Amino acid sequence: MQHYDLVIVGAGLVGLATAREYLRRRPGLRLLVVEKEPRIAAHQSGHNSGVLHTGIYYTPGSLKARACVTGHRAMLAFCREHGIPFQLCGKVIVALTEEELPRLQALYERGQRNGVQGLELIGPERLREIEPAAAGRRAIYSPNTGIVDFTRVAAALAEEITAHGADLRLSCQVVGLLPRAAEIVVQMRSHPPTAASQSGSCEEELTARAVITCAGLYSDRLARLTGDDGGLRIVPFRGDYYVLRPEKRQLVRGLIYPVPDPRFPFLGVHLTLRPNGEVWVGPNAVLALAREGYGRWQLHPRELWETLSYGGFWRLARRYWRMGLAELYRDYVKRAYVRQVQRYVPALEAEDLLPGPSGVRAQALAPDGSLVDDFVIRRGQRVLHVQNAPSPAATSSLVIAQMIVDEAQAQFAL
Ligand SMILES: Cc1cc2nc3c(=O)[nH]c(=O)nc-3n(C[C@H](O)[C@H](O)[C@H](O)COP(=O)(O)OP(=O)(O)OC[C@H]3O[C@@H](n4cnc5c(N)ncnc54)[C@H](O)[C@@H]3O)c2cc1C
Repeated sequence: MQHYDLVIVGAGLVGLATAREYLRRRPGLRLLVVEKEPRIAAHQSGHNSGVLHTGIYYTPGSLKARACVTGHRAMLAFCREHGIPFQLCGKVIVALTEEELPRLQALYERGQRNGVQGLELIGPERLREIEPAAAGRRAIYSPNTGIVDFTRVAAALAEEITAHGADLRLSCQVVGLLPRAAEIVVQMRSHPPTAASQSGSCEEELTARAVITCAGLYSDRLARLTGDDGGLRIVPFRGDYYVLRPEKRQLVRGLIYPVPDPRFPFLGVHLTLRPNGEVWVGPNAVLALAREGYGRWQLHPRELWETLSYGGFWRLARRYWRMGLAELYRDYVKRAYVRQVQRYVPALEAEDLLPGPSGVRAQALAPDGSLVDDFVIRRGQRVLHVQNAPSPAATSSLVIAQMIVDEAQAQFAL
């Protein structure tokens, strides 16, 4: 049986960055990254808005806030080192109404407390200089918010780790983790499953001194393989984007964002410049019918049942059903969504918004129905599970990796 020092499950940005960080601290470590898809960054890391966040939104002192502020800096350095293009195109967070002004002010103060550099509170004239097509009474201008193609970041990470001796195994799904006194057995099967292994049984085993799981949309399942998910459940939320017609791209120079609802910071109309010059509008957030369900009608009955049979989901739904229905309505009725967009960029018309790609967020829910906001790393015997790595974990991935490796080294003496 093959033996490794460390096996990392999941070749998204968090798994790949963790592998890189480990190899920087422990060159020569026998390390394997296992990914169920035939390519890296196949899910959240390759289906996101591509924004290099600066850390304005997050609760001061949280892991998220710390990791984002330093992670932004680290990511820029990584991109420079690997020749990955990025653009610090800047972002405006726009207040449209009188009621939003206190929240905008509070957000500005939060950004300052988090140590975000260069923030300005601006009035309508300065807003028009920065984003001539945007409406708004007042805004926060964040000049260091940027954009990048995170799939290129993932590719550079994979190249670096394999050049330093790591193995990367694709199309291979981890289906069992069996901790023993001196090692952990990792059970795998090919993915998608062959006829012979439809049952989910294992086709191959190897051993490792330790395992770190970074499985995104399946992080709770991986945690349950060693018996403890801490009661958290991943509920997938699909986010659809529109793409602006090329002739209308010049209406958006950088990023135009709303003042977020502190309970749901990911909701609201976002207009985002992309590294290839496109402008994406979205994503929204509606319950996905499958964990990797990128299409509106893509349904996985067992996964949907997992969501619907979870008490935490119904507690969330009871509290926020109005908001959920409104989001669903705007998902199905384009006119309703366009009306929201026009509040921020009045010159846009419905025919300027073309159907675009979508992504699925791994939203961790607690049994009481609360959305788990911060990063969560759970310890087990010879295993660490990254149970929650929500946005901005792409921006912060290099620093989250440092936190994970600190934790792993303390626990595994590896
Ligand atoms: C719509 C959307 C927009 C976003 N926008 C931004 C943004 O602009 N900026 C930002 O910083 N962040 C953004 N994020 C968040 C960011 O993309 C994620 O937080 C980050 O990519 C998480 O990385 P990950 O490696 O944890 O997860 P993933 O990228 O999902 O990787 C997990 C991997 O584990 C693999 N896996 C799962 N189970 C198994 C198994 N049993 N065996 C083997 N492999 C397995 C999966 O196939 C997958 O490749 C966005 C997310 C979404 C969904």
